Amino acid sequence: MAKIQMKNAIAELDGDEMTRVLWKLIKDKLILPFVDLKTEYFDLSITERDKTDDKITYDAAAAIKRLGVGVKCATITSNQARVEEYKLTHLTPSPNGILRGELDGTVFRTPIFVKNIKGTVSCWKKPITLGRHAYGDVYKNCEIKTPTAGKAELIFTGSDGKEIRKTIMEMKGPGIIQGIHNLDKSIESFARCCFTYALDQKISVWLGTKDTISKIYDGNFKEIFQRIFDTEYKAKFDAAGIEYFYTLIDDAVARIMKSEGGMLWACKNYDGDVMSDMIASACGSLAMMTSVLVSPDGKYEYEASHGTVQKHYYRYQKGERTSTNPVALIFAWTGALAKRAELDGTPELADFAKRLEKATLDTIEEGTMTGDLARLANPAAKKTVDSWEFIDAIAAKL
Ligand code: NAP
Ligand code: MG
Repeated sequence: MAKIQMKNAIAELDGDEMTRVLWKLIKDKLILPFVDLKTEYFDLSITERDKTDDKITYDAAAAIKRLGVGVKCATITSNQARVEEYKLTHLTPSPNGILRGELDGTVFRTPIFVKNIKGTVSCWKKPITLGRHAYGDVYKNCEIKTPTAGKAELIFTGSDGKEIRKTIMEMKGPGIIQGIHNLDKSIESFARCCFTYALDQKISVWLGTKDTISKIYDGNFKEIFQRIFDTEYKAKFDAAGIEYFYTLIDDAVARIMKSEGGMLWACKNYDGDVMSDMIASACGSLAMMTSVLVSPDGKYEYEASHGTVQKHYYRYQKGERTSTNPVALIFAWTGALAKRAELDGTPELADFAKRLEKATLDTIEEGTMTGDLARLANPAAKKTVDSWEFIDAIAAKL
């Protein structure tokens, strides 16, 4: 059988621990037998990042920008324990943070639905894609525990030397104060990432903030989204039959809980932190959640939203064949291959990506699955398998 040809390469970012083991298995069993795979390979394992002082991560980001498409394995974010475990020379920053910064991108997470894993919210028929603005607000705050009564003020000194000063509160006793910020440029990029990805997926965008209370701060998010939408995206949204919908954040939450899903929910940083965990837990397993980093100018990096599954890796190293779920990793590959096919105009590759997704979902829906899903399945799993058997079952269908 002739293998499917690729016109252009995708950037391939390898990673750590159990997901690195699965990464090779997925390539060997599910992709390389069918596709004449073209990738530019970057080893983002913790030791390689340490050795190159993160140059490898910056090189990978440059390749994603140049090629337009990347696929990434999960990676260890180092901490003191990891420095000792891997004999690192220093603490390296989060590679996902570097990639997000280099691409000026937003991460979108979407659950993968299968018929026999019922989510806890019965009205959600279609997956909800959540986009979190990962800059500023309370995550870059400045806080003071005020020891006495006193006057709390907000002071801004402009680069032109002009000062703006407002009284926050004449405090009658000890308390707490907090300063937060955001930047128009970051909010504009976030808006463009959301609208770009919604067009890509042909789904509507929802944004909720509390602009009735926070007229200037949250109001700025509302204004910027509306301006970018009206000037850059409205015509394209009309043509695609999708819409941009703004409402108050509490109304957005109430409506989401009663909706059938299927929208892109753009969230401010804190809302996104909280709501992404709500959606993930309502949809079942961490391993059934895809993640894609999208830049404002439409570069895409696909990954799984879970980590390196460290505990499974230690068991694997002792010789155990773990039942680690590879679905989100498989979908990272199919997402990247489908995007490559779309950009290159190679329908055979697009078709392969679809067939690999279908073979994966059919395997689960017919009752063969990893342990994390078997615990949730209804009707019950027919066969609970390890990762190797699961991937073999998918390969047999392909
Ligand atoms: P994790 O790798 O997501 O795993 C946490 C737990 O979730 C696992 O122990 C396992 O539960 C379950 N799980 C996650 N993925 C699974 C899968 N595919 N199949 C079955 N079960 C799965 O998070 P972590 O253990 O907190 O983090 C490990 C490392 O990953 C850390 O070094 C962290 O820095 C890194 N990390 C990387 C990324 C990324 O690169 N995108 C994201 C998050 C974390 P049971 O043990 O109960 O089976
Ligand atoms: Mg959270």
